[in-house]
Amino acid sequence: MPKYVYFFGGGRADGNESMKNLLGGKGANLAEMAGHPDLKLPVPPGFTITTDVCTHYYNNNRKYPKELKTEVNTAMAKIERLMKKKFGDSKKPLLVSVRSGARRSMPGMMDTVLNIGLNDETVEGLIQKTGNARFAYDAYRRLIMMYADVVMEKAEGLEPHGGKGIRKILDERIYEVKKEKGYLTDTELTEEDLKGLVTEFKEKIIEVLGAPFPENPQDQLWGAISAVFLSWNGKRAIEYRRIEKIPDYWGTAVNVQTMVFGNMGDNSATGVAFTRNPGTGERQFYGEYLVNAQGEDVVAGTRTPAPINDYSRNDQSKHLPTLQEIMPKIYKELFDIQKRLEKHYRDMQDIEFTIEDGTLYMLQCRVGKRNGVAAVKMATSMVKERLITPEMAVLRVAPNQLVELLLPMIDPEAELAITPVAKGLPAGPGGARGRVVFDSETAAEWASRGEQVILVREETSPEDVDGMHKSQAILTSKGGMTSHAALVARGWGKCCVVGCSDIEVGKNSFKTKSGEVINEGDWISLNGTKGFVYDGKLDLVEVDLDHNESYGTLMRMCDRLRTLKIRTNADTPSDTEKAIRFGAEGIGLFRTEHMFYGEGSEEPLFLLRKMIMSSSVEDRKKVLKKLADFVKKDIKATMEKLNGKPITIRLLDPPLHEFVPHNEDKLKAMADELKIDIDEVRKRGEGLKENNPMLGHRGVRLGITYPEISEMQIRAILEAAGELIKEKKKAYPEIMIPVTCVDKELENQKQIVDNVYSEVREKLGIKKFPYLFGTMIEIPRAALTADKMARQAQFFSFGTNDLTQMGFGFSRDDIGSFLPDYLSSKILPEDPFQTIDQDGIGELIKIGIERGRSVKSDLKIGICGEHGGDAESVKFCHRIGMNYVSCSPFRIPIARLAAAQAVAQEKLQEQAKSEKPGGVKKVKKTTAKKKQVSIPKAAKTVKKKIVKKKIVKKKIAKKKR
Ligand code: PEP
Ligand code: MG
Repeated sequence: MPKYVYFFGGGRADGNESMKNLLGGKGANLAEMAGHPDLKLPVPPGFTITTDVCTHYYNNNRKYPKELKTEVNTAMAKIERLMKKKFGDSKKPLLVSVRSGARRSMPGMMDTVLNIGLNDETVEGLIQKTGNARFAYDAYRRLIMMYADVVMEKAEGLEPHGGKGIRKILDERIYEVKKEKGYLTDTELTEEDLKGLVTEFKEKIIEVLGAPFPENPQDQLWGAISAVFLSWNGKRAIEYRRIEKIPDYWGTAVNVQTMVFGNMGDNSATGVAFTRNPGTGERQFYGEYLVNAQGEDVVAGTRTPAPINDYSRNDQSKHLPTLQEIMPKIYKELFDIQKRLEKHYRDMQDIEFTIEDGTLYMLQCRVGKRNGVAAVKMATSMVKERLITPEMAVLRVAPNQLVELLLPMIDPEAELAITPVAKGLPAGPGGARGRVVFDSETAAEWASRGEQVILVREETSPEDVDGMHKSQAILTSKGGMTSHAALVARGWGKCCVVGCSDIEVGKNSFKTKSGEVINEGDWISLNGTKGFVYDGKLDLVEVDLDHNESYGTLMRMCDRLRTLKIRTNADTPSDTEKAIRFGAEGIGLFRTEHMFYGEGSEEPLFLLRKMIMSSSVEDRKKVLKKLADFVKKDIKATMEKLNGKPITIRLLDPPLHEFVPHNEDKLKAMADELKIDIDEVRKRGEGLKENNPMLGHRGVRLGITYPEISEMQIRAILEAAGELIKEKKKAYPEIMIPVTCVDKELENQKQIVDNVYSEVREKLGIKKFPYLFGTMIEIPRAALTADKMARQAQFFSFGTNDLTQMGFGFSRDDIGSFLPDYLSSKILPEDPFQTIDQDGIGELIKIGIERGRSVKSDLKIGICGEHGGDAESVKFCHRIGMNYVSCSPFRIPIARLAAAQAVAQEKLQEQAKSEKPGGVKKVKKTTAKKKQVSIPKAAKTVKKKIVKKKIVKKKIAKKKR
């Protein structure tokens, strides 16, 4: 028979920490703290009703399993015996709290009811027992307020009376009493005031909600239990689950626990603490507390929490006495407990405690949330302390936490105080602020006079590249995560928000949904990590990676673990240099066309245009000859930076029409150069137009029609490599053909490569030098015929941007218009242009790898689509046996981490399989030593201005909300 209720308290527990799925995180940890032989901490006794009951409740028309009542009664009786109190007793009343607790913490998203068991009779017993009538009536009025709000209004689905909830109505009554009596704080309310409020509240509840507050403690208990189960499907909880990707079927557990009071006088207190500083990661016990208070008093903000010790002092609390000073014995006990907890869990714990009349109780412990800086610092320090293995350490840092270390971000303090005016897709992470401009030329012009600008457009095109580059950030109202703006911005590590349909972009202003108009020159700030747009100039927080020792240590750990190589997508020497600093082991995608955009591109672009506009092969060849010098110079400079690391150079990919000039001056210049009429230039440009250019004359198709274009590029690549080798430098080019779908296309281009290679060797007088010939796999047909393709190619690089586009039939530039609907209706779990769709596109990739390697077992395989920098996709690439991933320079650390996490997950799974169930094993000294890396004592961290105390404060606030 299933067991629905798990008891904990008095040094034993039915459950333990490993039972999170059944008991929820909170219940499992309460059981662990109460019952584990190494802990047996002072946890107020209680019991957990399992998540299975939640599932049963929803599957059976909101009815409980019939055994539940008996199990709850039995557990209640156990608590009563331990506490020597009785639930509903008028002399020694037992009071309980009822709280939610899902597998993963959902702070403040579900409901809680405290002080259950109080009524007009039991309140007398409480007065007798505590000798404190004011305290007892205060507890009673709190119960009535919470119960009316959570159980009688929210759980019943009642619409707030006149738009105002019961909680607010009752709060206002307290405010009125305080005003009438001239009190400033709640603590000035007397026993009589509170007693009066209890009576008034009950009347008001009948008036507003049409039902009385239940006096029967059993009714209160079951009312609260149902309300908590119902809050699993409350609006807030559903929304939070959607964002955090928590499955709906998990359900919540319910924890019923003996109440302990931190508001019983000056010998009582309540607080929250962390075993290490969650803002910096320092190994210091850190927290805050309030004397004579309950948790919700902290939220009210009327009292400043005091620091638990000197380390936890901040500007607001520096004058307040510490817990260590005023209750040294309790502090010592708490300090000892937190040390044991961290050792036991081998991770930073966030703990809640209450001191009731000089006795310490532990109310909660869980793995503490931390920011990116702290996560990296803690993970690396714990390896050094031999608390965890390197495998565990790399899994402790979430990839997006690493992003926090890499980019400037909006000061979290400033961001908290302001609401975004619009939301879009988070295309380029980090934070930025600048004055709004609406075209590329203005962006470039304002930037040249030292202005910080943010380029706002409906969408961007290659012609905007210069302005985009000179802007602090880019904001577009259209486009998806692989739109032009997103791709380019990410490549530069630039903050960018795309597909922001909340704004309407005009010529010289944009309008938000709420009607606010932001004009050219106005300041805005962007959070590209979250996709938020703010009005005004918010503070930014700078980062300094070179001085972040913990970051360096973590990256070295990752490199020792991972087997997947990490390359970069880069097309310039400076990006290459940046990428190498981030740890790139080569270039996985050098897009040749990039030399025709942005700064310094004028001359090569002019030549390219001239070549496109030429009407005969001879004319084209003449121009190509000149263009070759630019191409070679560009490639050679990048190769030199790589110093022998491999570079995959892709031949021209976009349709030629993209390069046709549009503006009159440029058309005229071209007409003059070609000595033809401007209308003829226009006509030739028009002739290149296609209805569906992404599926048109691009990639290898250009090389088939115009072999001389391929030949020029191949010659430039091989001559650049050959010349470097002659100069006693290193070069390792890989020539890559894009947009292929038939093996014969490759055969055709390979012939050109073979011929040019012989000619270059001869020209340079070199016997041989290394190079590879390979192809992009970005069309489904290419993946399906990979065995044939592999006969021609020495390597494959999966172009998952186009493979996703062609596999789904979704335009990568227009997905922004329907993706939000697909995500909100859960038709798709994620944006497939961001994270590889493993079921569909992933299968194509697996087929491609399998078939390719079936004819060439040593076929080198990588990925160069945007997914190469997405952590989940990187792990997938590892699992399916790729050799490398390639991503933009700024995403390299994330890829290094994700690749290491993939190995760590495998190792830990294997280990778990071979270990007996039960005991948590100690970290073996030998393993730790072997993997250990040195961390200088005074490890410097990123220069973030996060004020320590705010983190605790926010956390407390969130939890109590
Ligand atoms: C791809 O299609 O995945 C790719 C890398 O090429 P591009 O984004 O340049 O089309
Ligand atoms: Mg492509």
